[in-house]
Amino acid sequence: MTIGEIHPPQSFIGQIKYIGVDFDGTIVEHRYPNIGPENTPAFYYLKKFVDCGAKLILCTMRSGDSLDEAVMYLRNNGIELYGVNENPYQKNWTDSPKPWCHLYIDDSAFGCPLIQKDRMAVDWSVVGPQVLLLLENNHERD
Ligand SMILES: [Mg+2]
Repeated sequence: MTIGEIHPPQSFIGQIKYIGVDFDGTIVEHRYPNIGPENTPAFYYLKKFVDCGAKLILCTMRSGDSLDEAVMYLRNNGIELYGVNENPYQKNWTDSPKPWCHLYIDDSAFGCPLIQKDRMAVDWSVVGPQVLLLLENNHERD
């Protein structure tokens, strides 16, 4: 099934709830271990996703202080996280360390639309509207 030009994960069409989102090169431009400028318009779309019922799970290789700084940065910019490197819900049924998400937005993901910044980064002008369309076509939410 295809929605417009979108080819979403086939098994979750109509029930996108958990969205895993990377930090460096995705929400912000690459400056690790510092925090780069917002990869505009990431915040706009992430807030829209939450407004549409999605739960955001930060999926990043950051740890320790650099992770704490990223989480605080997101919080200070109004981004509501459901999980950080984990989906609390999955503890009911697996011990896997991989956060369970219906889809993942990551500049390292195969097929993710990218744009040239200082380094390549997620192109939110493409990703944002497509994910919003998926959320608007949800027919099941638990
Ligand atoms: Mg990245």
